[in-house]
Amino acid sequence: MRRILVIGASHAKKLGTALKQFENQRDFKVEIYAQPGARFANIPFPDLNNCTEQDVAIFMCLGNDIFEKNSHQVECKNRNKTIHLSKNKPSSENHLLNICSALQKRIANCRAKVVILDNFYKHLRCCKSHMESNRGIFGLQRKYNVIIRKFFASQCTVIEHTTLLFDTYADRRNERKYRELQVDAVHFSPCQYLKIAARLLPRLFSPPSIYTEVKRIATEIK
Ligand SMILES: [Zn+2]
Repeated sequence: MRRILVIGASHAKKLGTALKQFENQRDFKVEIYAQPGARFANIPFPDLNNCTEQDVAIFMCLGNDIFEKNSHQVECKNRNKTIHLSKNKPSSENHLLNICSALQKRIANCRAKVVILDNFYKHLRCCKSHMESNRGIFGLQRKYNVIIRKFFASQCTVIEHTTLLFDTYADRRNERKYRELQVDAVHFSPCQYLKIAARLLPRLFSPPSIYTEVKRIATEIK
């Protein structure tokens, strides 16, 4: 049976759980390799050597490196959880490029179809007291996603995650609409992960693009 491997941190765990709910409708098995809160160095990467061309490996593992270590703070009040960005210290573009290179090495020999989701946005106005100090982090995270998408564009399928949430270009750039889908300033409600899963699935199993086909034939000729 064809496998869908979901690799990353908390969003990967939640999206993998949502994808599992579609297992009976289609012929695939979901495997989750996720560690909530993990930065790239601590992602529990599976052995990719035994993947086949039928399988899909979804990577969503760069999101917790966008800010420096220990810059967030979890607050629980009356059953409501908020994950604050208490120190607005973005990681450098260099760090981002380094982990992109590390991921590139990992996927280089993976026979599964490799899909990379760009980073889900977080800490968008976690609260009033951080509003001033966290100004600009939506723009920063969008900029870092452009870097990620450009980095991997020629190598694998890169999906702009906002296309799985919104239909129009204007909505995809709308910070307020994005925030409204989140429950703790980082994660979405379970029904949003179901929506993401439902919209992602057709893109995982679409026929290979002409470009991929040409690349495959080129490798066979060699
Ligand atoms: Zn806050």
